[in-house]
Parts: sequence; structure tokens; C-alpha cells
Amino acid sequence: MLYIHQATIFTPQTKIENGALLIEGKRIKKVGPVKDIPCPPDAVKIDATGLLLVPGFIDLQINGALGHDFTANPETIWPVAAALPRYGVTTFLPTIITSPLETVAQAQKVLVQSQPDGYRGATPLGLHVEGPFLNPEKKGAHNPKYLRSPGLQAVTNWSPETGIRLVTLAPELPGALEVVKSLVMRGVVVSAGHSNATYAQAQAAFGAGVTYGTHLFNAMPALHHREPGLPGALLTHHNLTVGLITDGIHVHPTITKLIWAAKGEQRLTLVSDAMAALGVSPGQYQIGDQTVTVTETDGRLVDGTLAGSIISLDVALRNLIDFTGCSLAKALPTVTATPASVLGLANERGSIALGSHADMVLLTPDLRVVTTIVEGQVVYST
Ligand code: ZN
Repeated sequence: MLYIHQATIFTPQTKIENGALLIEGKRIKKVGPVKDIPCPPDAVKIDATGLLLVPGFIDLQINGALGHDFTANPETIWPVAAALPRYGVTTFLPTIITSPLETVAQAQKVLVQSQPDGYRGATPLGLHVEGPFLNPEKKGAHNPKYLRSPGLQAVTNWSPETGIRLVTLAPELPGALEVVKSLVMRGVVVSAGHSNATYAQAQAAFGAGVTYGTHLFNAMPALHHREPGLPGALLTHHNLTVGLITDGIHVHPTITKLIWAAKGEQRLTLVSDAMAALGVSPGQYQIGDQTVTVTETDGRLVDGTLAGSIISLDVALRNLIDFTGCSLAKALPTVTATPASVLGLANERGSIALGSHADMVLLTPDLRVVTTIVEGQVVYST
């Protein structure tokens, strides 16, 4: 058993000053004020005086880190997963971008096989397959060579049981809505992205089962007052949740404020969309089979196209607070409870609640990661 005491706990729905938490095995057994939760004699204690205890962060879109790109080599999912707790990330969706279908199958295999012996790190919850059914006009850093028309044949083996949780596609492509319906029926979350959808096409997509929008404003038509397009539809449909890269480059801080006002913490998820250069020095890296030149601030293809970010999710959280002036309590769901809801896992992940997976992070008051716990085990500590 693990007993954490004297923390300020954000569940994140409530705040508990002088809080205590008891973990038994992989789950949260008790949470509340210290005075109500005595330490069992055999528990390992962590004194969290002066620290904040929050749910572990959930990243719905990450392409790689530490020099590894999941699409270039799906086997690297595990070494990257082992490193993510340093950023407060406890669960994530490794993202495979547009590539031959065999690459997706290979990544599925990596995930459904049991984790490596002695593994300690973040938990991959399934793949985010971004592509190959994308609009060539909004391909971003995806290799056009591998883009294809939506077809049921290609997705017959795509389900959470076979390692696929989320699929990003362009819903305006012929045949896309049949693929949406088929995936949703099998429990896969479908997101609109890398898309040129009009407002009407976006509405049709939502009707077919699309519930999420991938990196809002990036690889989409611009918001126009006479044709709101996909971004206008995502911003105004209250049951749609969006992903956002808050590095201040993919979307201007002022537009982040606009998105925050429209969506709020229940319908906004921050994603890192990090590529291989996260956590290493600037230089040349891969995304899929394309080369990205990475500076201190961003990563771009040779033609200048942005190719994923180089920020981590803890930085994304701090940026959201900086850009909008919102409180930590308001911002936290965007990296915890809300991404868990998108995946239909709100009852077991993303909150500090009885019976939930014991995934959590201790932060300094200025939101630096001190300790990360995954499934009841300390996997990272400064
Ligand atoms: Zn993308």
C-alpha cells in the first residue's frame, strides 16, 4: 500500500487541502482530508507537504519522443512510454500517421503483445491512427504517397481489442461516413482532422458518429464568417470535444483564448502532438519517412510545413494557463478527466476517485513534475 499525505489534491472536480490518499495495488482505495484517512501501519509513506496531487496526464496524440518516431518504428512505443512519466504523462495514445496499412498492423501487434519484462512507465491505451484517409489538400506533414480513399476493407481489424482507440479522418471524402459508422460501432472514437470539410459536411460527420476534432485549426479550412467550415462546427457544437496544441505556434495564444471561451474544460483536450525531437536537442529527425528540421521552437518539413510539436503535455498545461489566465483547477480537466471522457473511460481514469486506476502526479506549485505514479507504482521521481 502507498499512502500520500499533506498534499493539496485536485481530483480535479474538487480541491482537498491537507489531503491524503491511499493506494492498494493498482487502484485508489481512499481519498480525503488527512484527518479522515489514517496511515495503515504497513503502508509506504510519501510526505507531499507543499505539493499538489493531480490525476496523471493523458495525451491523446503523440508521435514519438527522445529521437524515436512511432510510425518509423512502432517498436519504439515502449521505450518512449517508459520516459513519458517525466512529463506527468501516465497514459497516452501512440499516434501512427499516414503510412502503409502494414505499419498500423505492426503497431497493433506491438501494443497487444504484453509489455516488456520489468516494464515501468506510462500505459499506452491503444493507437491513435491519424490517416491514411485524409484530404490531400490538408495533408500537413503526412506523406501524400500513402493517403488513400476511405474503405471498410482497410479497417476490418481496427477496434480497441486489437489496439486501436481513435482514428482521425477527413469526413468529407467519399465513403468516409460508412467508415465512421463502422468504427464507432466497434467502440473506436472517430475524429475529424486533416480535412477540408464545410460546415454542412462537418454536421453530417457528427451525425454519423464523429465526436472529436484533431488539433483544432491545424490542417483545416480557416474559420470564415460566411462559411464556418469544420472549425466553426467544432467550436459551436457543444457535444464535440477538440484537441489543441498549445505551443503558441500551431495556434496563436489569442485564438487559444477564443477556443477556451467556446469549449471550456469539458470539451477541450490539450495534446502534445510531440514528434521525435521531444526531450532531445535540435537537429534532423524523422516523422514517418520524412525528415524534419527541428529548432529550439518548432519542427518543420523542408517546405516549412509544421510537423508535430516539440512540447510535452506539462508544458502544454502551463501554456494554457498562461494564454487564458484560467486557474489550475479549471485547466486540469483538459489533460485528465476530459481526455478520459473522450475515450469513454471517465469512470476509471482521469480522476482521483475511489476505485480509479492509481495514476497520478505530484507537482510543485509552479506545476513542475516531482513524482509520477502509474498503476500504484512510483515510476518517476526527481
Ligand atoms: Zn496532424
